Amino acid sequence: MIGNYIDVLLPLPVYGTFTYSVDAERAAGLKTGMRVKVPFGKKNIYTALVTRIHQQNPGPYELKEIVDVIDPEPVVLESQLSLWNWMSEYYMCPPGEVFRAALPAQLDLRRKTRTKPEVIQETKPLSVLNEAQQLAFDQVREAFTTTEVVLLHGITSSGKTEIYIHLIREAIEQNRQVLYLLPEIALTAQIINRLKAAFGSSVSVYHSKYSIADRIKTWNRLLSNPEAQVILGVRSAIFLPLRNPGLIIIDEEHENTYKQFDPAPRYHARDTAIMLAKQHGAKVLLGTATPSIESYYNCRTGKYKLVELNERYLNLQLPEIAVANTRELRKRKQMHSHFSPALIANIDEALRNKEQVILFQNRRGFSLFLDCELCGEVPKCRQCDVSLTYHKRNNRLHCHYCGYNIPVPGKCPSCGEGELRMHGFGTEKVEEEIALMFPSARIERMDTDAAGSRKSFERLIARFETGESDILVGTQMVSKGLDFENVRLVGIIDADTMLNYPDFRAHERSFQLMSQVSGRAGRKNERGKVIIQTSYRDHPVITNVLENDYNSMYLEQIRERKKFSYPPFSRLVEIILKHRDIRLLDEASQLLADLIRNSINEKILGPEYPLVSRIRNLYLKSILVKIERMSALQATKQRIVDAILLMKTNDRFRAVQHTIDVDPY
Ligand code: ADP
Ligand code: ZN
Repeated sequence: MIGNYIDVLLPLPVYGTFTYSVDAERAAGLKTGMRVKVPFGKKNIYTALVTRIHQQNPGPYELKEIVDVIDPEPVVLESQLSLWNWMSEYYMCPPGEVFRAALPAQLDLRRKTRTKPEVIQETKPLSVLNEAQQLAFDQVREAFTTTEVVLLHGITSSGKTEIYIHLIREAIEQNRQVLYLLPEIALTAQIINRLKAAFGSSVSVYHSKYSIADRIKTWNRLLSNPEAQVILGVRSAIFLPLRNPGLIIIDEEHENTYKQFDPAPRYHARDTAIMLAKQHGAKVLLGTATPSIESYYNCRTGKYKLVELNERYLNLQLPEIAVANTRELRKRKQMHSHFSPALIANIDEALRNKEQVILFQNRRGFSLFLDCELCGEVPKCRQCDVSLTYHKRNNRLHCHYCGYNIPVPGKCPSCGEGELRMHGFGTEKVEEEIALMFPSARIERMDTDAAGSRKSFERLIARFETGESDILVGTQMVSKGLDFENVRLVGIIDADTMLNYPDFRAHERSFQLMSQVSGRAGRKNERGKVIIQTSYRDHPVITNVLENDYNSMYLEQIRERKKFSYPPFSRLVEIILKHRDIRLLDEASQLLADLIRNSINEKILGPEYPLVSRIRNLYLKSILVKIERMSALQATKQRIVDAILLMKTNDRFRAVQHTIDVDPY
């Protein structure tokens, strides 16, 4: 339809669309999903997205006219617009913010990307599924005849990826697209090569560490090419213009990196992908060795179907897991710094057999904090309420929240006399100590400090794969879906900090991390070994990991969640208020909590200072709303928004910043 008016979405945190007028000539070729340049405010020009073309002048004022039409054809599909709308409503953020995340400004789709001629890559015939895999595969297909979402609970190295590959082939034969999501750091050359070996050039990759040109290429290829394709991507791939997805695979579905923390939209890619699948009548396969409590619960209640795969490919044994009781060992003065005798002996043996070792420590840096031996002062960030972490590589103290860093002071900056002592330890320290103990071992570190670019990260993995390094020390990055052939031993250096983390998901996550990293141990013909160092020898989660007992962990967690009304028994909405003036913030947050309490009948926690109560000079206060499953979700959310707006009608509180996080992690 040709209209004189268009509604557009601006890439700004404002609610609603804006109407502009268009002259007849430009209106002729205009379609929704094209981008236009529009004036906004005094003299700004923005790239906006056309969402509607119509004849209604909303008047009474004269409308501004668009400046230019950018695209000759739509670059965003109607189905994308409706998904973005859903995200905006569900995650309580302005649609413009979703638009901005989906199509970052630098994603200039007009830019001609030089496409190297595709080499029609040689593909292998697919591998034959073994009996257990074939059974699981058949069960998944059967389940898809009656259910939209299937959870494949398969232990590490059971061959989940092989099953995905067989399902992908079927979807392609039916001319449907496949979206295959992986957590950011699990999307490595290993998996890309496996898929390319099976499906050749119909595989595209969408990864935030890929160049803009590569990402544009994928976007444009999807727009212009109706052929069935496989898109392998990280969470942002849910924004892509998919025309006919038939299957969405979400590997490592339990991973919390599927949730975007900052900035808005604070979406969960797994949950959004399920919505996306619904739009297109596509099926969703969630795969993991350690399901999230929520997904497993959905299987128990019949919302999803569960398929299990309990044996490893080639009947490889699960590793033998042992506990080193650090409390006892410390008492008997048998710990060598952070290492138990058992761990040292096993590392030694593995190295002598020319086998490899992975050491997992879920903190980066060298020491976690310093304090003064005399006055006890802990050097803290100038802008945030956190202690600074010592990084030996540059001999500086770093804030992990804002990046602020200073040289290590010679004496305590507070009393000027005492020496600073180190407490706690991170990957850098583990690396250094292990190098002292095993001077001829080739050691590499994998954490966000070490793995800068995608290339350097891939090279690091490749060196370990080909045996050019012996020991890999790392944070949770080493637990993500890597498949190494020669790893004999996995050491979990400190389970205590994971178990003690003050979060209702701490036990679930500890179980997942420990099980996942354990899954890296084991060679083709030999059983691998895992040593967990902890002072909580009898902690139920440690027992669950030792016995590879997901079910008991689940039952215990679900009981706790029910008792305290946490997900999946409620939905959480967290509101964080921020301001420089702590008293003003206290007043504003108290007012907001009162307003919310008065308008909705749900459990409300707070206002409270979060764990880190000041970041970049802004004080933080949090209000947590637990919305019962049976409540009208959208109406309740609207009341929360109304309460925030009402709070801000008070002039003094107008400048208080707020963020809303639905299903925070
Ligand atoms: P998971 O995804 O469950 O961790 P993978 O699919 O990565 O397991 O399988 C583990 C290893 O076993 C991989 O190296 C894979 O190539 C191999 N493998 C699994 N199933 C088969 C099969 N049916 N034929 C050949 N190799 C297989
Ligand atoms: Zn800071």
